[in-house]
Amino acid sequence: MAEGLGDSVVLGAPVRRIEHGGDTVLVEADGARVRAEHVIVSVPTTLAGRIAYDPPLPGYRDQLTQRMAHGALTKCAAVYEEPFWRADGLNGQVVSDRGPAKLIFDNSPPGGTPGVLMGFIDGQQALDHSELPLEERLRTVLDCFARLFGPRAANAEHYVERIWAEEEWSRGGPVCSMPCGGWTSYGPALRAPIGRIHWAGAETAVVWNGYMDGAVRSGEAAARAVLAAGRGTGAGVTGDGRCWARTSDLLLVRQAL
Ligand SMILES: Cc1cc2nc3c(=O)[nH]c(=O)nc-3n(C[C@H](O)[C@H](O)[C@H](O)COP(=O)(O)OP(=O)(O)OC[C@H]3O[C@@H](n4cnc5c(N)ncnc54)[C@H](O)[C@@H]3O)c2cc1C
Repeated sequence: MAEGLGDSVVLGAPVRRIEHGGDTVLVEADGARVRAEHVIVSVPTTLAGRIAYDPPLPGYRDQLTQRMAHGALTKCAAVYEEPFWRADGLNGQVVSDRGPAKLIFDNSPPGGTPGVLMGFIDGQQALDHSELPLEERLRTVLDCFARLFGPRAANAEHYVERIWAEEEWSRGGPVCSMPCGGWTSYGPALRAPIGRIHWAGAETAVVWNGYMDGAVRSGEAAARAVLAAGRGTGAGVTGDGRCWARTSDLLLVRQAL
């Protein structure tokens, strides 16, 4: 999708500031400035709250962004010469209440080698795990895999992990959760545009909220909203019938809706 858009997609340019309130919006990113009739902010709500808005957004919207924190989730993968557990009749899938990896899958490639066990560590265990030195984190996860799949699992060839809570452009995962009263007090602010600023992203989806499917649906919904606004430069239809709308970090193109 990005290839077809050529230079219109600017990567590595986080949006820092959005000036709005007049007939156009000005989006300022690292190394890029875009003036448009509308902007679709398509980042997780907690990250939308890190962008500076001029004039500042109404309190109800800013306070919403303070209440949509992401969960703590760490993804870890151990790589073996082969998926040895299959020979024991095991499918590599685990749901456990003990952890630290509580949800585990056989993540080996379709060809069957190497063997990869992938586990999720979540919640308090993810936070505790992230405080340990790498060597200890590795040992804790491999011990967990060995408990479930036998002693061969203790000797991985490689170990990789991603602590999503430490990712600057995600701030955790896999989805956000609101505190008590968050939805009832601030829910309406989630999707309501503010002037020429529209909101998209998985958290704004009405179907599959918080997931990939919802992210795509939310982009389509936001594009429709901007198209409906009937403006020229903020959104349009390409020569081959696809509709597009400019977002803060990429141009979103879908088949005509
Ligand atoms: C470990 C993990 C596992 C998951 N597993 C699944 C799964 O199995 N199935 C599923 O459906 N979903 C899963 N999810 C959830 C899924 O990843 C999200 O629902 C989806 O990525 C949300 O898409 P999005 O476009 O709304 O936001 P994002 O994917 O977060 O995209 C937002 C983009 O905006 C960029 N960005 C942020 N701030 C700025 C800024 N200021 N300026 C410019 N760009 C910015 C970010 O770098 C990012 O590229 C998982 C998530 C995690 C963390």
